[in-house]
Amino acid sequence: MSETKIKCVVCGTQTEEAKDITLTSMVQGREIVITRLTGTRCPNCGEQYVDAESSEKALEIAGKFRKPTIVFKRKITVSGGRRVLGIPEEIDRALGKKENADIWLEGDKIVAEVY
Ligand SMILES: [Zn+2]
Repeated sequence: MSETKIKCVVCGTQTEEAKDITLTSMVQGREIVITRLTGTRCPNCGEQYVDAESSEKALEIAGKFRKPTIVFKRKITVSGGRRVLGIPEEIDRALGKKENADIWLEGDKIVAEVY
C-alpha cells in the first residue's frame, strides 16, 4: 500500500500501517465510536490517519446515526375543519417533485412514504 508512505503532519515521523484505528465522532450531540478502521498511525505521537476507504466507511456509519435524529417539531393545525400537518421546508426540499404519500400509523408515529 502506498498509503504507508504518509508522514505525520504533527511531528514528521514516518507513519506505519494500522488496522485497528478507532474514530470518535460527534453526531448531533451523540458520541459515536467507529472501530477497526484501516490507515496509518504515527509511532512517535500516536496521530492516526484513516485511508480513503475507511473514511468513506466512517462517513457512511455516521450518516446512519444522523438520520433518525433529524426531528422537526410541528404543531398540528386545523384548516377547513381538517387537521393539517405542515411539511418542514428542509424535508420538502429533499422530497423534490414527489407529490404522493402513503401515510400510516406506527404507534404514536405518523409514517409517510412519498413517491
Ligand atoms: Zn507524529
